Amino acid sequence: MSGSTDATDADDAGVVYLVGSGPGDPDLLTVKARRLLEDADVVLHDKLPGPEILGLIPEAKREDVGKRAGGDRTSQEYTNDRLVELAREGKIVVRLKGGDPFVFGRGGEEAEHLAAHDVTFEVVPGVTSAVAGPAVAGIPVTHRDHASSVTFVTGHEDPTKEESAVDWHALAATGGTLVVLMGVGKLPEYTAELRAAGMAADTPVALVERATWPDQRVATGTLADIVEVRDREDISPPAITVVGDVAATRETLAAFMRNGVDGEGGAE
Ligand code: SAH
Repeated sequence: MSGSTDATDADDAGVVYLVGSGPGDPDLLTVKARRLLEDADVVLHDKLPGPEILGLIPEAKREDVGKRAGGDRTSQEYTNDRLVELAREGKIVVRLKGGDPFVFGRGGEEAEHLAAHDVTFEVVPGVTSAVAGPAVAGIPVTHRDHASSVTFVTGHEDPTKEESAVDWHALAATGGTLVVLMGVGKLPEYTAELRAAGMAADTPVALVERATWPDQRVATGTLADIVEVRDREDISPPAITVVGDVAATRETLAAFMRNGVDGEGGAE
């Protein structure tokens, strides 16, 4: 790529760091993320890093590119273009993303956009909520006795759509743990798909809401009743859905864990 030489040659060229914030507890920021938040001229973020981490960033450095007060979402195009613009102004730019920057959340697209515009960038991995969310609720995503594989999947797509990119029947057949991100709204649809694919009605399911935030909640049930549990407990995004036998491990672990697992909201 000839263009990248131009970008690095320019003395005043800025740089973009695509930084994972982890799930929300500031102690789970990487050392590098923490240092970059201090060094940055500007931090582009949405709400996913959570109130505690956002609270660490001086107001003057912050640009919110998440949902606006009116409920409209800032377009991905705006965010992409803003990153390029700030880098070209010579700024040290942190694009702070919840969890890990390359696990859902469109970090890959942002990186591609930067590359296409000859902007130098660095990816700073973070602790993904897909693993940390279950963990702090007392759920190991793999376990020698219960799950030899784990799949991260988006719950955002409508499983009944003909052209759905997610094959829930194939996922049911893995016999491993399913960790669903963005999976609160369409919980009824994909749990029905999993049951139709032959998964047992009593398969344990856990919902971990705002994992590691000060107001974290956990609710548990089974494939058959988790929608009821969600509605009764009013579980809302951001939350992780864990489907599989490992979700029951929580019953033996939670009482002895110091992760602030209140968690008695569910069918326990
Ligand atoms: N890059 C992020 C995922 C972005 S997609 C990561 O690696 O964690 C957004 C989804 O992530 C949310 O809908 C939710 O399912 C999940 N999520 C992110 N942070 C969370 C948290 N603290 N608690 C529960 N779920 C979270």
